[in-house]
Amino acid sequence: MNISYFTNQLLHWYPDNCRELPWRNTKDPYIIWLSEIILQQTRVAQGLPYFSLFLERFPSVQDLASAPEEEILRCWQGLGYYSRARNLHACAKSIVQEHGGDFPQSYRELLSLKGVGPYTAAAIASFAFGQQVAVVDGNVFRVLGRYFGIEDDIGSSGGKKVFEKLANQLIPEDNPDIYNQAIMEFGALQCVPKNPDCNSCPLQPTCFAFSNRAVEKFPVKAGKTKTRKRFFQYFHIQCGKEVVINKRTGNDIWMGLVDFPLEEHTEGMGQDPDSSSLIEELKTLNPKVNFPNQKPYKHILSHQVLIAGFVNVGVDPIYRNELTYWVEKNGYSLVGEDQLETYGKPKLIVNYLNDQK
Ligand code: SF4
Repeated sequence: MNISYFTNQLLHWYPDNCRELPWRNTKDPYIIWLSEIILQQTRVAQGLPYFSLFLERFPSVQDLASAPEEEILRCWQGLGYYSRARNLHACAKSIVQEHGGDFPQSYRELLSLKGVGPYTAAAIASFAFGQQVAVVDGNVFRVLGRYFGIEDDIGSSGGKKVFEKLANQLIPEDNPDIYNQAIMEFGALQCVPKNPDCNSCPLQPTCFAFSNRAVEKFPVKAGKTKTRKRFFQYFHIQCGKEVVINKRTGNDIWMGLVDFPLEEHTEGMGQDPDSSSLIEELKTLNPKVNFPNQKPYKHILSHQVLIAGFVNVGVDPIYRNELTYWVEKNGYSLVGEDQLETYGKPKLIVNYLNDQK
């Protein structure tokens, strides 16, 4: 195994090819941590504006820790995986309350922070504190898997250990932070998932996957997790200039965000007002029910596909008291339509509201 050749090629390639990104060239663990959390499962182009917004609104870990969760979720809106935003907040609080506002420096201590997994802990330890700990993300799996021809499944815990062990053998004592940046950037720009340009690659002469015509085979990933389909029938209930909202609680997607009352169906969307128990409950308020003839909204999460339809329900303001009683009984809220903007909402709801304008 030609370790020093591999490492040297990457270190040589990096300065000429790396992108200018605002979280590079800093040793500030807050900025590094913030960028890593925002960029998890997110493309750089999509994450950049969120990173700038967070840094502007919460310039320090203290600012983030003392902000209301509502505000953090509102800033996070559209980025998905909202548990990351809640963990971000919890982590900021624990750094302020338990670590005096300073990030711990060791990999082990970093790993104990909420929402900080092996990858983020390694990134902070090496980028901020210069420690010789290898980062292993999707890019690193791909580069190592292809170059060294590793047959182990990256989805299994045994496979992950093989990659971690190798990655930690490869990382040099000098400039471990630069090496970590280099291998990730190499995976993001050169050894890309589909059709990498192997002819322009400095590692090509000794790359296992290239010489065995097996680039698409690596990294090896066995059976993917099954995706679950869910059907949401939303009710957009308006009463004069007010609207009924639902604050999502419980252990489901979008906890802490705001959407509308909904009925979940096992398959297909109910298009018959008589089959809706919610419409039945509101019957005495003489609601104007409109099932718009529009295509359902589709939203893809990591292991779920959501298909959502919206029903417009108009309640005359003369029934406001009765509606308020029903709203409170069901744990919903009646708020001014202009207030909707201030709440963090799932992308699907934002798309629907934009289509109503
Ligand atoms: S030769 Fe191709 S597969 Fe091998 S490291 Fe370079 S880009 Fe990746």
